[in-house]
Amino acid sequence: MALVIINPKGVEPWISALKEVDPDLDIRSFPNDTNRDEISFALTWRHPYGIFKDYPNLKCISSMGAGVDHLLRDPDLPKQVSIVRLADPYLAQDMAEFVLALIMNHLRDLNAFKIKQTESIWKPADYLRIRDVKVGIMGMGAIGKRVATELQKAGFNVMGWARTSKEIPGITVYAGANEFPKFLNETDILVSVLPLTNETKGILNKKNLQLLPKNAFVINVGRGEQLIDEDLVTLISEGHLSGASLDVFTEEPLPKNNILWKQPRVNVTPHIASLTNPTSVAPQIVDNYYRAKEGKPLLNVVSREKGY
Ligand code: NDP
Repeated sequence: MALVIINPKGVEPWISALKEVDPDLDIRSFPNDTNRDEISFALTWRHPYGIFKDYPNLKCISSMGAGVDHLLRDPDLPKQVSIVRLADPYLAQDMAEFVLALIMNHLRDLNAFKIKQTESIWKPADYLRIRDVKVGIMGMGAIGKRVATELQKAGFNVMGWARTSKEIPGITVYAGANEFPKFLNETDILVSVLPLTNETKGILNKKNLQLLPKNAFVINVGRGEQLIDEDLVTLISEGHLSGASLDVFTEEPLPKNNILWKQPRVNVTPHIASLTNPTSVAPQIVDNYYRAKEGKPLLNVVSREKGY
C-alpha cells in the first residue's frame, strides 16, 4: 500500500521529511499518481473537493495542519475513512510566541510610534503593563493550552474557554455556552484559537464582542470565518474595542478591497501565526500510516460530529 501527498503548495519538503523517517515508504504525489487503488493513506492540505472518490482503498486521511475545516467541508468525503490531524508541540509553541508578540505590541502601542517616526515626531505616551490586563483564550486544546501556559509564564493573568471544563493550575477555564458571557465580561485581551465548526462560525460577532469590557483588544488566530469583520470595525469605530490583530480571514489571501486592510487599529498578518514544519511532524504521520495499515488505534483522531 502507498501514501499520497496532496498539497497545491508543493510536495518536496514533505517527501524528504517522510523518507527521512522511513526510507521504504511508497510515496505518490497528486495529481500525477496512478494506480490509485494502491493508496491507503492521504496526507493533504486544501485538496480539490471530490478527489477522494478515486481512491477506493483509502483508510485514513491526515490533515497537514492542526485545522480540518477545509477537509470536513468536502461533500464527497468518504464515510468509512478515518480523519486525523497534526498536534505538534512546535506548532503550539510558535503560536504562543506569536500571540505573546501581538499582545506586547498592543500593550506598548508600538504601531503608533512607527507612524510617528514616519513624521519625525518625538512624543512619549502612557502604556499598559502585563499586570493591567486579563487575557482570555477561546479554545483550550493542543494549541490554546500552550498559549495560555506560556502567557501565564510571562506573568499574565490568563483565563480559558472551551466546550468542556479543564483543570489547569492557576488558569480558570470556563466551559460551554452558559459560561461564555462571564468569560467575555472578564477578558481585556481576547484570543481565538478555536477550530472552525458550525458552532464557532461567526462567534466573534457584535453581540458577543459587546460583552467584552470597554477598550478590549481582539486577536484572531483561529479561523477567519469566526469573525464578522463589519461588527469588529463598527465596535472599534464606536470606541468599544481598542483594536485587533488578525492572522486569519474568511477569504485568503485577503482581497485588496477588503475593509480590514485600511483600518488603522487593525493589524493584518498573512496566516503566519504558526506554520507546520514537515520534519517535526513526519514521525507522527508515519506512525499513523502504519497504524491505519495494521488496523490499530490512530493518533489525533478528528470527530466528524464535533467538527474538530
Ligand atoms: P484542538 O482540537 O486541540 O482544540 C480545540 C479547542 O477548541 C478545544 O479546547 C475545544 O474544547 C475548543 N472548542 C471547540 N469547539 C468549541 C465550542 N463550540 N465552544 C467552546 N470551545 C470549543 O485544536 P488545536 O488547539 O490543535 O487547534 C485549534 C485551531 O487553531 C485549529 O483548528 C486552527 O483553526 C487554528 N490554527 C491556526 C494557525 C495559524 O497559523 N493561524 C495554525 C494552527 C492552528 P474541548 O477541549 O472541550 O474539546
